[in-house]
Formats: sequence, structure tokens, C-alpha cells
Amino acid sequence: MSKVALITGITGQDGAYLAEYLIKKGYVVHGIKRRSSMFNTDRIDHLYQDPHVENRNLILHYGDLTDSLNLTRIIGETQPDEIYNLAAMSHVKVSFDTPEYTANADGLGVLRILEAVRLLNLIPKTRIYQASTSELYGLVQEVPQKETTPFYPRSPYAVAKLYGYWITVNYREAYKMYASNGILFNHESPLRGETFVTRKVTRAVSRIALGMQKKVYMGNLSSKRDWGHAKDYVRAMYAILQQDEPSDYVIATGITTTIRDFLKMAFAEIGVEIIFKGENVNEVAVLNYIDEKVFIERVGEAYLDNLRKRIGDEVVGVDPQYFRPTEVDLLIGDATKARTRLGWEPKFDLAALIEDMMLNDIKLMKKESYLRKGGYEILNYFE
Ligand code: NDP
Repeated sequence: MSKVALITGITGQDGAYLAEYLIKKGYVVHGIKRRSSMFNTDRIDHLYQDPHVENRNLILHYGDLTDSLNLTRIIGETQPDEIYNLAAMSHVKVSFDTPEYTANADGLGVLRILEAVRLLNLIPKTRIYQASTSELYGLVQEVPQKETTPFYPRSPYAVAKLYGYWITVNYREAYKMYASNGILFNHESPLRGETFVTRKVTRAVSRIALGMQKKVYMGNLSSKRDWGHAKDYVRAMYAILQQDEPSDYVIATGITTTIRDFLKMAFAEIGVEIIFKGENVNEVAVLNYIDEKVFIERVGEAYLDNLRKRIGDEVVGVDPQYFRPTEVDLLIGDATKARTRLGWEPKFDLAALIEDMMLNDIKLMKKESYLRKGGYEILNYFE
């Protein structure tokens, strides 16, 4: 008999990678997706199977973390061996705009899942993974951060996730549930949402290279993050639920980089050097030099002339609207426990991650540019 996994947040970055990973391991995967006015399954469309096919290994259910009846019904119907609770309003900056909703989905949502498993008498069967986050460390109490480092959340998102973390620990201790937290540091990929900083950068650099955009405006360029690849991090989620005893694990690369350096590396990926000038809100980066061989190889000769004319232009600026009301400090994780107990090691370093993201975004932006040139762009509905 195949094992059954239920993934909340299956339409998100991690949900998509995890679904594919578990299907390859022979699991039947059930996923919860939200109703939306547009298709929202782009990231998992390659795994989709027609409902008329027998023995499907991917089955989607409509649901929402704010609806306990719905969650209880789905968990009761699917009887999962493993639940991966990845659903969340996952954007730190947006959580300042929607704090109550964030608390409901990211905090109480976790409780709803734990309670459903308890009330359905599934405690002996079902293992639960809770997607906790390095944002819990916020105002940093210790560098690097490990499982024993005290938390100090600095956003409505992180405060909601703090509740999710502790209610998971509490249910484990109170009811002997198999429930574990993965405290994951930032992880990115070509599937990362477009409003997250790394993807915003790789998209913008690709658009600038193709002549589709002049400049990108950023928030705090000095923020530092420990960035890994989502593919590596979903392997850790799976490994966490395969241990004999439930426990909490930090998953991180242990290397931290500024947004400024991430930008430099993304431009370097296409053979472009940028130089930063000025300070704080007046900081800009100008296009300084193009290694034409690399540019032609990565982007294409057709786009070179246009970019050559832009040497000396500002391609990066700072806009304070992207600053967070309260910033987190230096996030850098110590994943020793995961490395020793799970045998987990990341396969991607930052350069390989950026290469993967840039290659994907150049391809995507080229497609958009061809559509525009071909006249397939909608300008106005009433014209
Ligand atoms: P994404 O934002 O890409 O995906 C979030 C998923 O949750 C989407 O499928 C989204 O659906 C779904 N979702 C949002 N709100 C609800 C709701 N109320 N009910 C049901 N589903 C909902 O996040 P990631 O894949 O990057 O992250 C996965 C989890 O890991 C999240 O909990 C995140 O907070 C956490 N995390 C992520 C880190 C990272 O660096 N990526 C770091 C540490 C933790 P839809 O597609 O409809 O929007």
C-alpha cells in the first residue's frame, strides 16, 4: 500500500517541489488548494491527472486554513500518514497590511490541523510537519541561530508563526502526537513568488537584460539572509517526518549574504558588472561593464546593442516604501542537528541557486517579450 501524504499549500513554491518529491517516492499525494478566480495550479500542472484516471497519485481538494470544518473533513476522508502544513500567508511585508488574517491562517490554522487529527483519533497514525521559519528569530539573540536560540519575532507573520511553532510543540507534549517543526531559513527557486526579494531581483535583471525594464527599486540593500534552494529544503521536510521520534530542526546553509551582493551575483550571471554608489535611500547601482561573451551565451546577441548603450545608467535604486516597519537582524542558521541526525546536506550553493533562477527567468521574460512583439498583449479591454 502506498503511503498517503496531505500537503496544505500545495500550490506554493515548497508544496510543488514536495508533491513531486513524494510522488517520486511512491506516495499518493492529496493537496489543499484555495478557490481562486484564476487558475492557481501553475506550479503543479505537470503533476496533474485527470479525475477520470484510475489510481491517481495526486488529488486536489478545495480548502482553506481558516475553515476548520473543511480541514477536518479532508483529513477524515484522506486519512493521511503524513501531513505537511505548508499553507500560509507567507509574505513578511504583506503581514503588516493583513495582520489579523495572517494570525488566523498562519497561527490558528496550525491549531485547526492538530485538533482535527486529535478529534479524528488519528494520533497513532498521522505525522505532522509544521512549516516554521527563521523569522521567529527576528531580533537576533544569538548568531548563528540554532534550535535552542530564543525567539523574538518582528512581524505579524513571525508572531503568527510563533503560535504555530509552540502549539505544535504543545500538542506533541500534551497528546504524544508525532508533530515536528522545521525551522527553515529562506529558500528560493525558479518557483519562488514574484514579490519575494530574490525572485524580484532575478526577474528584474532578466527584464533589464532584454530591454523590457530600465531600473529596479529595492528596499534595504544591506539586509542579510541565509538563502538555500527549495529543492534541498523539501528533502529536509521529508527526512524530518521519517525519524523515530518527533523533534524540531533548523534547516539552513550557514552562509549569509546581503541583498546588494545577491544583486551583483544575479547581474554577473549574465556577464554584467554593476557598481554601487551613494548611501541609504540615495544608494544606486550603475551598469559598469559587460562581458560580451558571457552575455551572448546567457541572453543572446540580439539584446547586446541595446544594453551596451546603457553603460553608466542607473539600474538599481532604493525606494523606502519597501522598508519594513521593523527589520530582522542577521539571520544565519546552524543546521548541525539536521546534518548529524537527518544526514541532510544542501546540494545547491548560492551561485548555483542564482544560476537556476536566472536561467529560468531569462527564458520566461523572453517568452513575454516575444508575445509583446507579436502583438499578443492585451492593452485595454474597451478598445
Ligand atoms: P508560498 O507563498 O509560495 O505558498 C504558500 C501556499 O499557502 C500557497 O499554496 C497558498 O495558496 C497557500 N495558502 C495561503 N493562505 C492559505 C489559506 N488561508 N488556506 C490555504 N492555503 C493557503 O510559500 P512557500 O512555499 O515559500 O513556503 C511554504 C511554507 O513555508 C509557508 O508556510 C511559509 O511561511 C514557510 N516558510 C517559507 C520559507 C521560504 O523561504 N520560502 C522560509 C520559512 C518558512 P495560493 O497559491 O492560493 O496563494
